[in-house]
This record gives sequence, structure tokens and C-alpha cells, in this order.
Amino acid sequence: MKIDADKCVACGNCLPVCPMGAIYIDPAHNRARINADECVECFTCYRGMSKEDLNPTFVRAVRKIAKFFRFRFDPEPDICPTDAIVPEELSWPRVVRRAFSDPQVPHESTGIHGRGTAEVKTNDVTGRVKEGEAGFVVEFGRPGVGARFRDIERVTKALAELGVEFESNNPVTSLMTDSARGLIRPEILNEKILSAIVEIKARLADVPAVLGKVRELSREVDTVISIGVSTRCDGAGEEPLREILEREGYPTYRGKTNLGLGRVTAMKN
Ligand code: SF4
Ligand code: SF4
Repeated sequence: MKIDADKCVACGNCLPVCPMGAIYIDPAHNRARINADECVECFTCYRGMSKEDLNPTFVRAVRKIAKFFRFRFDPEPDICPTDAIVPEELSWPRVVRRAFSDPQVPHESTGIHGRGTAEVKTNDVTGRVKEGEAGFVVEFGRPGVGARFRDIERVTKALAELGVEFESNNPVTSLMTDSARGLIRPEILNEKILSAIVEIKARLADVPAVLGKVRELSREVDTVISIGVSTRCDGAGEEPLREILEREGYPTYRGKTNLGLGRVTAMKN
């Protein structure tokens, strides 16, 4: 995304709209600018603001006259008065920013919008997680924080060393060069995104090691990490996961129980 300096009148309306705080007013040029390194290409500024397409010279003149008489002329707060926010053609690798940050763009690898996955924690009619196994969703980033792939890779590498299995139908896995080692394509490691979800599977016995490793690394990476764990109940509706989590010191409750009434869409062997 960029700001057309010929059109921008520095009204500042777009600043609070950006979830990454990437837009600022450059006092030297009296124009809004976008910090390209922080911008995650979410398109919130472009799509979220109404556009008036007023003549910039006219708006600047009105603002100058108003300032002279010590009152301000400001457009309505949800409007870019001069249509100055302009999307740029995104090429590889920058295009991954938009794929993980603009909820209206589906992921190429899965065809799903947003973070690009029907997460196992809420939608497991696929038979992915079996008895004796735990499914994890490890979520990186949030609006206002974001995440870079280099931090995500630090965690995926460490998890791979624990012998976890990465979900193949997941956009982060599709960007790996070596899922056995948790390696992500090197050219995207510096790309920043709003958030991403890594999905893995491990034996129930390995749940403490996985949680411990994520907790340890969450203190070292430059983002926030949330984690969800799920398992499959046996025929009597029992499961040992809750006891494992309690032993590890986590307050536990069944956040969601999937009764399996949905149609099985992709059973794995
Ligand atoms: S595209 Fe998103 S991150 Fe980039 S400047 Fe606009 S609102 Fe901010
Ligand atoms: S809303 Fe439009 S005119 Fe106002 S600062 Fe942002 S880009 Fe410039």
C-alpha cells in the first residue's frame, strides 16, 4: 500500500485505521506515509475508508484559510477526502503479507480465507486427530503486533525436533521447504503478517514437551503466541488430555466439544 503524495492533504484520518500503526504523518513533507516494513498489506486502510475524490489543491487551500482564522477544516473521520490511498501490485515474496493479513483474500494452498485453515480445534470432522494423539493450533501475532516468518520458523524448527507432525492442509506448512525440520522458505522469513496458525499433531505423551517448548520460545520471539490443544475422546467420552494439562499447571476446561455430527470430508489413514 502507498500514499499518493500529490493527493494526500495530511488530514490524519487514516492513521487510527491501520491495525499495525504503519501510517504516520511525515512532518517534513506534511503528507501521510506508510512504513513499508511494518505494513502487512491487510488493505484495511484502502477498503475501510470512504473516498471523496475532492481536489487536493482545493482541500489544502480551505484548510489553510481555516487555519488562518484559527478553526480547523477536517473531513468526516472515516473518509480519505482525496482518495490518496493506493494499492500497489504485490510480487513474491511480499504477496504473502496480504495472503495472511487480508481476510478477503483466500489462501492459494487451501482456498480458505483469513488465516487459511479450518482449524482442528473447532472443526474436526476430518479425522485428523486420533485417540492417543493431541492436535495443537499455535497462533502467532495479533492486530497491533503482527509476526514475522523468521519468528514462526524459530518455533516450527524447535517443534520439528520434538518429532511433531505438521498438518499438510495448512498455509504455513505449504510454505515450508522441509516440514520434517520445520524449515520455511528463506525468502519470506523477513515478511511481516497480521497472524498465522501453525497446526501440528503429537502423541499425548509429548504434550508437556510441546507446551514447554512453545512457552520457552514465546519469551524470546518478537510476537505473541496463543496455543490451543485438542484430542479425541474414547467411546465412553473420556480423554486423558485434561489431566495432562492440569498436571502441567494449566487451568483447564472443555472449551468446545465436537460431537462429530458433521459429514467427514477428508478421512486420513
Ligand atoms: S494495508 Fe494495512 S497495514 Fe498497510 S498501511 Fe494499510 S491498514 Fe496499515
Ligand atoms: S486520509 Fe487520505 S488525505 Fe488524509 S492523511 Fe490519510 S491518505 Fe492523506
